[in-house]
Amino acid sequence: MAEAVTSSSSSKSVIDLAERVGAHNYHPLPVVISLAEGVWVHDPEGRRYLDFLSAYSAVNQGHRHPHIIQALKDQADRVTLTSRAFYNDRMGEFLEKLCTYTGYQMALPMNTGAEAVETSMKLARLWGHKVKGVEDGKQEIICFHENFHGRTISIISYSDDAVAREGFGPFTPGFRVVDYDDPQAIEDAITPNTVAVNLEPIQGEAGVNVPSHGYLRAVREICDRHEILMIADEVQTGFCRTGRKFAVDHEDVRPDVMCLGKALGGGVFPVSAVVADEDVLGVFGPGSHGSTFGGNPLGAAVAIASIEVLENEKLDERAEEFGQYVRAQLEELVDQVPRLQKVRGKGLLNAVVFEEGFEAWDVCVTLKDHGLLAKQTHGNIIRFAPPLVISREELDHALGIIREVFLAID
Ligand code: PLP
Repeated sequence: MAEAVTSSSSSKSVIDLAERVGAHNYHPLPVVISLAEGVWVHDPEGRRYLDFLSAYSAVNQGHRHPHIIQALKDQADRVTLTSRAFYNDRMGEFLEKLCTYTGYQMALPMNTGAEAVETSMKLARLWGHKVKGVEDGKQEIICFHENFHGRTISIISYSDDAVAREGFGPFTPGFRVVDYDDPQAIEDAITPNTVAVNLEPIQGEAGVNVPSHGYLRAVREICDRHEILMIADEVQTGFCRTGRKFAVDHEDVRPDVMCLGKALGGGVFPVSAVVADEDVLGVFGPGSHGSTFGGNPLGAAVAIASIEVLENEKLDERAEEFGQYVRAQLEELVDQVPRLQKVRGKGLLNAVVFEEGFEAWDVCVTLKDHGLLAKQTHGNIIRFAPPLVISREELDHALGIIREVFLAID
């Protein structure tokens, strides 16, 4: 565990500065992190907290995992950025590792999750035009209510979060938004111009909305029958978070395309990618898509090490085992805390849902004051997603804090 060190800046001065010079596009909990290791983060005053958000599942391997940090340092001493104007000696190795891990033939590297999703949408449109024969400009993609795929203009074009959209029009056309967890809604929205279905196998930002078992298989079957690409956005659910390598594995479903990000960079460096087979991803030609930083050797080295940690430490099995334990413990609280309605999730991606109208912000502040960091979503839902390297003792410590805080809710 990291030594508690005090920073020269106080939490208050850090927050004041950030609020003064930073755009106010976030509303963070009033806590400053100046040091982190494993499951623990420290503030400048030396107080320590269990991280139960994991940077929205980007820190599955724990903060500053030594294997990943070593890879970062070693690569930083060699070469960090080449652009794609030249080859670098790490990108191919990274993509091969990713393809082996995911079971796809090809990968296209980007940096952020939103870029991976944008890539998948461009891919679907191009594939729809070149392979399926849909007239260019007419391609349609089916998306879902309560989705979250990022913040670009095209992505928010099919969001139904008013705050994410208000003032940002005009929006990108070509999307049809239907009910989640309802296969018939997809069938009803399909037209001859439909090229893809773009779904989260569990809706993370919606409050860990887990669809009925069988839904993903039904989506797969519909996509096959209509010659439509099934795109799974595994940016938040991927890389062992839900107790499997990928959330689609819970139903043994193989999408045509997966969007990956967050934990691919091991909480160290932004790395994202789209994976698919050659008959799909092969439609891109030189100049049709790209990114200056995508596939850079520093990110590639970090991503290789990040996947190695997931494999070596069997983090999928750990998430599965601990997830069942966490949900069983939290379920007990549902009977004891009147305003707590349900617990849901898979692996170590879980949420507690309070009654409609309940404001969970204060609960998150109290959890912080007791040494546990978590963030509410949609007002009345709190997500619990610790790094997957958490120990049983740390988990019990966290559950003790949650129990104490929840039992005091009036
Ligand atoms: N897709 C999903 C499912 C996400 O949860 C997120 C981020 O939370 C994104 C895409 C966007 O990722 P990024 O913030 O790296 O752009």
